[in-house]
Amino acid sequence: MELIDTHAHLTFPELEPDVEAVVAQSKAAGVTGWITVGTDRQQIKKVIALIPGYDNMYAAVGIHPHHAKDVSAEDISFLKSVAGGEKIVAIGETGLDYHYTRSEAEIQKKVFKAQLAIAAELALPVIVHSRNAFDDTIVILSEFSGKLKNVVVHCFSGTADQAKVILEMGYYISFTGIVTFKKKVAETIEAVNIVPLDRMMVETDCPFISPEPVRNRRPCEPAFMVHTVRKLAELRGMDFEDFAREVTATSKFFFNLP
Ligand SMILES: [Zn+2]
Ligand SMILES: [Zn+2]
Repeated sequence: MELIDTHAHLTFPELEPDVEAVVAQSKAAGVTGWITVGTDRQQIKKVIALIPGYDNMYAAVGIHPHHAKDVSAEDISFLKSVAGGEKIVAIGETGLDYHYTRSEAEIQKKVFKAQLAIAAELALPVIVHSRNAFDDTIVILSEFSGKLKNVVVHCFSGTADQAKVILEMGYYISFTGIVTFKKKVAETIEAVNIVPLDRMMVETDCPFISPEPVRNRRPCEPAFMVHTVRKLAELRGMDFEDFAREVTATSKFFFNLP
């Protein structure tokens, strides 16, 4: 069995010091591939340094909306200069976050668009982070309609109606451990039921969002993704292995992995 954690932050301080053990635990649990995601200039450098050391580990490079306010034109050129590198498989995460709004919305939009332009130019797929910002996210993605190779909305916790909008644009949806939670997830569970498996991916977003039944364990790590996969398979009425095979195939196709 093969599973790919399509969105992990293995170079965040919670995981970085133990990354070798974290990867070993992940493999032992059956999660044998990873996309580790850089979120600012320093993290981008870290993910680029990490990935050559591990088989089946790839990176996405981008600037998280939280950091949009600190971004210079030079940071954008830096991103562009590294994005074509070996084992860099996506631009991201990039997008809009109006939950925390650590950067002003207008600045977030500008930095999001600059990164979509790089993705379009380099024909790389995009990992989109969208929190409390669905409408603006869709408006901006629509502006790039026909120009982007592919898009996944990661850590999806929206409704079935929102999922439909993303699917109709031809894009992908990735679920985290949120689907295993006991409360306030009914709407997202409805969304799980309408996303075809050839448009669905799974991720931990570790070190955040430990799934049930290990929700109290911190930090979250890629090994924990099996709990999310089990829950999703159950919701879809499928065997774990059949479900795993399908979402892994989708992930490989999306990120163009061997
Ligand atoms: Zn995110
Ligand atoms: Zn993330």
